[in-house]
Amino acid sequence: MNLTTATEAELLARRDRLREQYAALKGRGRSLDLTRGKPSAAQLDLSAPLLSLPGPEAYTGADGTDVRNYGGAMGLPELREIFSGPFQVPADRLLALGGSSLELMYDCVAHALLLGLPGSVRPWAAEQSVAFLCPVPGYDRHFGICEQLGVDMIPVPMTADGPDMDRVEHLVARDPQIKGIWCVPKYSNPTGVSYAPETVRRLAAMPTAAPDFRIFWDNAYAVHHLTDAEPQIADVLALAAAHGNEDRPFVFGSTSKITFPGAGVAFLGASPANVRWTLRHLSRRTIGPDKVNQLRHTLFLRDADGVRDHMRRHREVLAPRFDLVERVLTERLGGTGIASWTRPEGGYFVTLTVPDGCATLTVSLAAEAGVALTPAGAPYPYGRDPHDHTIRIAPSYPSLPELSEALEALTVCVLLAGVERLLG
Ligand code: PLP
Repeated sequence: MNLTTATEAELLARRDRLREQYAALKGRGRSLDLTRGKPSAAQLDLSAPLLSLPGPEAYTGADGTDVRNYGGAMGLPELREIFSGPFQVPADRLLALGGSSLELMYDCVAHALLLGLPGSVRPWAAEQSVAFLCPVPGYDRHFGICEQLGVDMIPVPMTADGPDMDRVEHLVARDPQIKGIWCVPKYSNPTGVSYAPETVRRLAAMPTAAPDFRIFWDNAYAVHHLTDAEPQIADVLALAAAHGNEDRPFVFGSTSKITFPGAGVAFLGASPANVRWTLRHLSRRTIGPDKVNQLRHTLFLRDADGVRDHMRRHREVLAPRFDLVERVLTERLGGTGIASWTRPEGGYFVTLTVPDGCATLTVSLAAEAGVALTPAGAPYPYGRDPHDHTIRIAPSYPSLPELSEALEALTVCVLLAGVERLLG
């Protein structure tokens, strides 16, 4: 039934039924979790051989480097070669570093604030203020970096093609304090959107008032496909160089959701000047990355085809979960007129949109019924969703039966919050 066109009597009857269903849910005393965008144990098992690599005999890289020792600031060349294609960065400009790409992003912003970047007139912290554009809904931890380091955040709406580029171009052309933009260009967190080629071209080409404007290109889901399409996005580094803005993009990625989160390898790719800048600051901070882990990853993944094969196995575990989300949401919320959701072709998340003003209520109803959801507002700067309508669903971690139960409960909460709202 389309609830938005229902009579008051119909809505009241529906509310009574939903309240009964909700009371039954609470009575079950379950504890289910849809917050965690992390791989399930079945996915981690796919990388189990890593735990016995490289073994006691293997400790030299292809060029004879002893990976057990200090040095090799750029990371193991053969691993950088493997990920050059997936991250669309020439291997000589792709650094393989520690275990977390978020850490690299944090360091990059912190170093820009403290020391300035190639093209900076002064360190960002010496500016009157510094702001980043934040496509919304977006990744809460990007916004957390800005909040922590005192970088102002300017939300920009996401469209089906990526950030609203008219708005982005308008803002960056006028305001020299806008120094950066956060981008998750493929299977974006949380909308699943992949940037259209024209969006990437405009980002690479647009005039910016700040001479040291940077795109933080967080390609966290570069190879995390859920369909056979396996699309490639446009090459931001090549496009930026072609438009005379070679130093604009910083590309980030990691094997967190390929092998082991926290025990993987993170990558940074950029122009030669940005790479030199990164290595200069890194050299004060570390005498070299964990090349034993990098060798382990090289031996395990072998080459770009090895990465592709491995990700297909991830897909076999993940795709049924996303299918289940689609099935339950369609069965329970389809045609009600009060909810819409994304059907991602990759990545880790589904975004559920409920009526304005209903996300916080839905999340708290779900919490009381034993289903943990990411706090409403989390995908927005400062945790404030101006419409209070976005809910992020992370289906990767629970088992299929748990996921099914959690989704059924969630839909009752969405309907109850929606009907209460319609009844005023
Ligand atoms: N970037 C995005 C968009 C993510 O969704 C995540 C994890 O959920 C990360 C980065 C974290 O990456 P890492 O584990 O390499 O720090």
